[in-house]
Amino acid sequence: MKLHEYQAKDLLRANGVKVPPGIAATTVSEAVTAANTLGGDFWVVKAQVHAGGRGKGRFKEVESIDTLERVVRGEADVPGKGGVQLCRSVADVEAAATTMLGNTLVTKQTGIDGVTVKTVLVTTGADIEREIYAAVLLDRQESQLVLMVSAEGGTEIEEVAEENPEAILKVHIDPATGLGDWQCRQLAFKLGLEGAAFKDACRLFKGLYKTYLAADCSMLEINPVIVTSEGEVIALDAKVDVDDNAGFRQKEIVAIHDSGEMDPSEVEAATFDLNFIKLDGNIGCMVNGAGLAMATMDIIKLYGGEPANFLDVGGGAKVDQVKAAFKIITADTNVQAIMVNIFGGIMKCDVIAEGVIAAVKDVGLNLPLVVRLAGTNVELGKQLLEDSGLPILTADSMAEAAQKAVEATKGA
Ligand code: GDP
Ligand code: MG
Repeated sequence: MKLHEYQAKDLLRANGVKVPPGIAATTVSEAVTAANTLGGDFWVVKAQVHAGGRGKGRFKEVESIDTLERVVRGEADVPGKGGVQLCRSVADVEAAATTMLGNTLVTKQTGIDGVTVKTVLVTTGADIEREIYAAVLLDRQESQLVLMVSAEGGTEIEEVAEENPEAILKVHIDPATGLGDWQCRQLAFKLGLEGAAFKDACRLFKGLYKTYLAADCSMLEINPVIVTSEGEVIALDAKVDVDDNAGFRQKEIVAIHDSGEMDPSEVEAATFDLNFIKLDGNIGCMVNGAGLAMATMDIIKLYGGEPANFLDVGGGAKVDQVKAAFKIITADTNVQAIMVNIFGGIMKCDVIAEGVIAAVKDVGLNLPLVVRLAGTNVELGKQLLEDSGLPILTADSMAEAAQKAVEATKGA
């Protein structure tokens, strides 16, 4: 679950990280009220979309296609106004919110299609002395979390990694002891921070780690962390991803999560507990088990086809889930054939066959359907498919099923 910046900042604030005061707004008048409520004479209006690179992004309704293509290519100094605008008057805030709300922001990460801005964050503007990069991530190779910082804040970390990898500093965090004070001091020292900023940076690092754990994050990136002229260290931006698997204990986050930028089929799949990822091919896949689902996609490609999706219906799929899966797969207009590849382990093949038959009868079937079953009660399962009288193609092996599915798309 990707969070919006304003949601991520609420989490950070709750875990002791300093963030600029801010108010989210969904209309221009709300944005104006927010600026007045915050007070002062310097505000920043920020488009709340899940993609990064908003500052350098440009709006589709305002700019030429040429300009937008330059944004997507990641060129520097592209003219125009972006998804992060510094405002020196309430009138500027109003103008910025008007440009953003309801319009389509194109950034390097969104691609040329862009995303519609439905919410903006109005924050108190900060005076920046220095920009730093900080992130907490899982280092799978080391089986530990890593706190990663770089003196080159504001720049994308991928660029730093490519051009100046020694500027990236890392400390690994032992899960038994947590992030040590000494590790924070080490990073702050290497970043060349002093005095109040040194102490404040250590507090911020601790807060980032605390947030990561408290919210079951899968990634937390603050680019930039800023140092102000008063030596305050503040999270100016926030990109937070929360592990979907922790949804059961992160109910507050699930409740506020905005699925508006997700593919609608993925949202639908999630409501049925299906592990679904939409792809660009033409062979819909229904498989149980993530490993088998990956292998199914591989074998489809091996025989010259392209999978339309990754779908793991899980070990104990119910008829309802099989039906939902069929609906989602057939709703994709790119799909020209369906391949069901199920290993009856926990579930028996006859139960699966019944599920498939019920789903096909319920949803209807206008596409070639290839079913490969293996495992417990496989003979009974196959018999049921045969007796159903439905035009289902059966296969004994994965290879045969994949070949039949690829063949079927060629006839389409
Ligand atoms: P991103 O473009 O999506 O990464 O959005 P950010 O929140 O990182 O903002 C982009 C850039 O805008 C930052 O790197 C800053 O340089 C600038 N910026 C954002 N907020 C402020 C602010 O309060 N004061 C100043 N001076 N610059 C800001
Ligand atoms: Mg940023």
